[in-house]
Amino acid sequence: MRLKLYVTGLVQGVGFRPFVYRLATELGLKGYVLNSETGVVIEVEGERKRLEEFLKRLQSEKPPASQIFSIDRKFLDEVGYTGFEIRKSEKNGEVQVAVLPDLSTCKECLSELFDPTNRRFRYPFINCTNCGPRFTIILSLPYDRPKTTMRDFFMCEKCREEYENPLDRRFHAQPNACPVCGPHVWLVDERGETVAERDEALKLLIEWLKEGRILAVKGLGGFHLVCDATNERAVAELRRRKKRQEKPFAVMFKDLDQVKEFAEVSPLEEIALTSVESPIVILNQRERNGLAPSVSPDTRTVGAFLPYTPLHHLILRDFGKPVVATSCNLTDEPIMFKNSEVERALGKLVDGALLHNREIARRCDDSVVKVMGGRVVPFRRSRGYAPLPVLLPFNLKRPVLALGPHMKVTVAVGKGNRVYISQHIGDIDNIKAEEFFKETVKDLLSLFEVEPEVVVSDHHPGYFTTKFGKEFFGERLVQVYHHHAHAISVMAENEVPLSKKVIAFSFDGTGYGTDGKIWGGEVLIAGYTEFERAFHLKYFPLPGGDRAVKEPYRVAVSLLKAAGENPEKYLKVEPQKLSFVSRMVEKGINSPLTSSMGRLFDGISAILGIRYAVNYHAQGAILLEEVSSVSSETGSYPFKIENGGIDWRELVSAIVSDLKRGVPVSDIGMKFHNTVVEMVLRSAEILREETGIDTVALSGGVFQNRILTEKCLRELPERGFKVLVHQVVPPNDGGLSLGQAVYGGLI
Ligand code: ZN
Ligand code: ZN
Ligand code: FE
Repeated sequence: MRLKLYVTGLVQGVGFRPFVYRLATELGLKGYVLNSETGVVIEVEGERKRLEEFLKRLQSEKPPASQIFSIDRKFLDEVGYTGFEIRKSEKNGEVQVAVLPDLSTCKECLSELFDPTNRRFRYPFINCTNCGPRFTIILSLPYDRPKTTMRDFFMCEKCREEYENPLDRRFHAQPNACPVCGPHVWLVDERGETVAERDEALKLLIEWLKEGRILAVKGLGGFHLVCDATNERAVAELRRRKKRQEKPFAVMFKDLDQVKEFAEVSPLEEIALTSVESPIVILNQRERNGLAPSVSPDTRTVGAFLPYTPLHHLILRDFGKPVVATSCNLTDEPIMFKNSEVERALGKLVDGALLHNREIARRCDDSVVKVMGGRVVPFRRSRGYAPLPVLLPFNLKRPVLALGPHMKVTVAVGKGNRVYISQHIGDIDNIKAEEFFKETVKDLLSLFEVEPEVVVSDHHPGYFTTKFGKEFFGERLVQVYHHHAHAISVMAENEVPLSKKVIAFSFDGTGYGTDGKIWGGEVLIAGYTEFERAFHLKYFPLPGGDRAVKEPYRVAVSLLKAAGENPEKYLKVEPQKLSFVSRMVEKGINSPLTSSMGRLFDGISAILGIRYAVNYHAQGAILLEEVSSVSSETGSYPFKIENGGIDWRELVSAIVSDLKRGVPVSDIGMKFHNTVVEMVLRSAEILREETGIDTVALSGGVFQNRILTEKCLRELPERGFKVLVHQVVPPNDGGLSLGQAVYGGLI
């Protein structure tokens, strides 16, 4: 395998390239290292294990003077390097504007934080040039203290000396501060009364956590809701207050060892957990691990992350036990980031709050990743990554702004060979989210000084982002089809050359198609600026439209009827409901047609009795995957590909007859997954035969399914295909703005 890395940070002129050379040669890896304007580019080839070791040691053994701010890593196919060399520097493109992401607390600061003799002992805002807030304190550029939310704090003499001394670790560290001159924390109770300040506030906070209280804690890009993750009563109460029934909560652990007590951690998951970006990593829980059942009531997974600010380190060390740390918001609203917002939630959502007086310049939610197929796949690319650019293998013809779709929205601006992607904005389902979206568009344009000649939106006429684009940008607006944008985004991050086309599988829940129907199980022949729809899942009615998304039994009715089966025999749902939905399907009342793969997963999940109704996005599909994952079944079900349609009716009938025979649900589920893999394989083979294209690109939220993605990654290469998956932006709609931006920048 080949591992390609873009390393940003202080990695030039500090002996970084010779270090990389020594490390690669020691591990017997081939490839090269070179300096570019954005940092250092490294390609190494060799055995998988060696590559992982390289990645680990690159971070743990780097030269003392170097600092790593981010590592973009992609596992790619081998190209066959014969030795390892230090290449001449690249010189093209403009120098990057320095807007860095927020950096998790470095080792040096951490040891000072817990050193009683240090003047910053237990100071929750300790930072240096290697670590601390960036993106979330920048008000405008250039990045300089008066243009950050640190402008109100005047450095004391000692801090100023550090700041002005080129030999000091805090030379020009803009957020530099100490207990004398910097921000401080205080604790308020449910009535908003300040009950303690500074270290006393932290001590009382720990007492309150022990009592099972639910507290808001001001972090880097917003507030977390925090409570004892081992206290079932507290976690259940948090669910009630946040109106979040089953979607798993993220849990922050004291350190890596503690994560390992509660969850299984692979070497690559360990790398992800401890990376400077400190994302939430979705792990499998260990059996009977002591986490409150309400942390993730419906799955065995847990979203785990490590403390990434000094404040988090203090809380987690003092408390000793893991804490739930979920975004402080009401369902579907953006994360709270102002003291005033949280003060209004006191006594209702939270029993108290740990506030501080360093303003947050912009919201930035925690990032989420999952390891699959030996890759770290982002599910949400936000804090720690935003607003780093995605580098393209070509230049865009014109500056561009991309507005994203409707769910999991990010926006992006592109110029030259870079696309800067915003932090996670989320679903745009209410006015607060609309405001956040508009602010972010403005913010991104001004931070990167882009005057877009082209603005790109989705084709869906009902999306807020589309309407916004039409209203504000009129003539400059171009639209790109949802599933094409998915394909472009995975092509772009995998550096597919401009002239090449791929066989793209865009599998997701929903997206507006060229015929006005709801697409989602799409096989495209895609280039960057055009596509052809080769195959798609055979259309089926979606009784009730959006209601069918929340109540997948409706999809099940639709699928069963299409396959000639009687829904009442297989679905344990009230007969009146079933006959009502059946009539909707028969008469085509409020039943738009869809080719959605996401809905097919939901529908099968319902037929198997796993989930008739869901209370968070893709829950049916996620649980179907989890149920199936214990099976080692290798068989699959029949289906047909004809007249451009992938006909799943035989598949549904075969599932029903397996159900009747009493085949375990886990085996049926696995056979269903295998069938979807077969659909991919067979479609790809037919299309390679027709077009000669042998590169397959996988995108869309359905590819967050580990079974599906891993089997595709194994079986496609066995049949001679090259496979592209997401490793830089999410497969879900969070990655769509990249595809939109590239499209708009190229047409
Ligand atoms: Zn530091
Ligand atoms: Zn100071
Ligand atoms: Fe999508």
